[in-house]
Amino acid sequence: MIWNESYECMGREEMREVQNKRLRTTVEHVYHNSPFYRAKMQELGITPTDIETIDDLVKLPFTTKVDLRDQYPFGLFSTPMSEIVRLHASSGTTGKPIVAGYTRKDLSTWSEVMARTFAGGGCTRNDIFQVAYGYGLFTGGLGAHYGAENLGASVIPISAGNTEKQIQLMTDFGSTALCCTPSYALHLAEAIEEYGVRDKLKLKVGFFGAEPWTQEMRLEIEDKLKIKAFDIFGLTEVIGPGVAYECCEQNGMHISEDHFFPEIIDPKTLQPMAPGEVGELVFTTITKEGMPVLRYRTKDLTSLMYETCACGRTSVRMHKIMGRSDDMLIIRGVNVFPSQIESVLLEFGEAAPHYHLYVDRVNNTDTFDVHVEVRPENFTGDMSSMLDLRKRIEARIQSVVGIHANIKLVEPRSIERSIGKAKRVTDKRNLYKE
Ligand code: ADP
Ligand code: ZN
Repeated sequence: MIWNESYECMGREEMREVQNKRLRTTVEHVYHNSPFYRAKMQELGITPTDIETIDDLVKLPFTTKVDLRDQYPFGLFSTPMSEIVRLHASSGTTGKPIVAGYTRKDLSTWSEVMARTFAGGGCTRNDIFQVAYGYGLFTGGLGAHYGAENLGASVIPISAGNTEKQIQLMTDFGSTALCCTPSYALHLAEAIEEYGVRDKLKLKVGFFGAEPWTQEMRLEIEDKLKIKAFDIFGLTEVIGPGVAYECCEQNGMHISEDHFFPEIIDPKTLQPMAPGEVGELVFTTITKEGMPVLRYRTKDLTSLMYETCACGRTSVRMHKIMGRSDDMLIIRGVNVFPSQIESVLLEFGEAAPHYHLYVDRVNNTDTFDVHVEVRPENFTGDMSSMLDLRKRIEARIQSVVGIHANIKLVEPRSIERSIGKAKRVTDKRNLYKE
């Protein structure tokens, strides 16, 4: 089922015309209504008249996560608050999350692109959606919710967690579609196996995203749950989930490029790359009102495919995310930068600036251990006497980064020193390998 044939199957030339027009409107909008973008454009000596087509995009400034953080909370909004009807925020960033504001029209766009996502996986109004993404500030829950409602399906807004109840409702209500993170899907799959209730379920598809996952994980989820598992991609800064989705061909994710224009750039030179080359994914929103972004650098690495898909859709596709151009980790759904952990550790006089982060996945749950050296002058030889320090560091990381880390205090000079660039992270999950 194709949800919006007019945009998903439009000729490429025709799509380009739509994008040109929408880009012009967006640039006019931000120039006149966002002091942030007006200043950025003035710095570059450009005005809206310099932007006529998508080819002029390269003249526009980039936007980064740092810009969003510096503008916390509402500095990037391009409409008065009276026009904003919803606020969301992304997880786990140093006390200052990324905030997104949506107008009524933005919410309608969002539910439209999420409806396309679900139709891409073959769902219709006859499906029963169990939305097990978290509801709240996180965009996953409500994004999936309104998309499934827009499709006309029946929605169970159960939110994340409470595995036993998930399985009970899945059985009693006959859920046919599951929406959650891939790691939670695996966790649920194992619990279902344990309870031996798979045969009582009507589940046939799942829409999994918000974190990287491998092809192996897909096969495992499909095998255990006996469903078809679809990869979905999005980010709060652009809209939330719904930026790109897989169709039944599962050969890359179709980007809703009538709303979000993608570019691939070289993360070092910032120059555009040729079609098909792997680089950093950059988005310009071309219909958003509340918080449009120009050339937002996702730091996600992938490549684009412009050929028409076997499903009939003409929209550009992105490959599965292949990595990041920065060192951001996604642990239990929370975005974690090693530098955030470092700055917390350095608040404690007893801790030395020598540490190592270990991330792994055990029973489908991410584990996060931080080894940190105690300064020689604070080292008593008896680690158990340092329990209090450990607890204080753990509490501080929880409050600043929004995630629990197991702190292990280690002896002075026991963490390997490196010559050159320190390797401070060991991530055994290998989430980006194909
Ligand atoms: P959300 O948690 O709603 O996805 P965030 O803004 O917190 O939004 O995180 C967005 C980031 O999550 C993306 O830039 C990307 O790194 C990662 N991400 C989201 N979906 C996927 C996916 N399907 N595959 C790989 N990474 C993803
Ligand atoms: Zn397709």
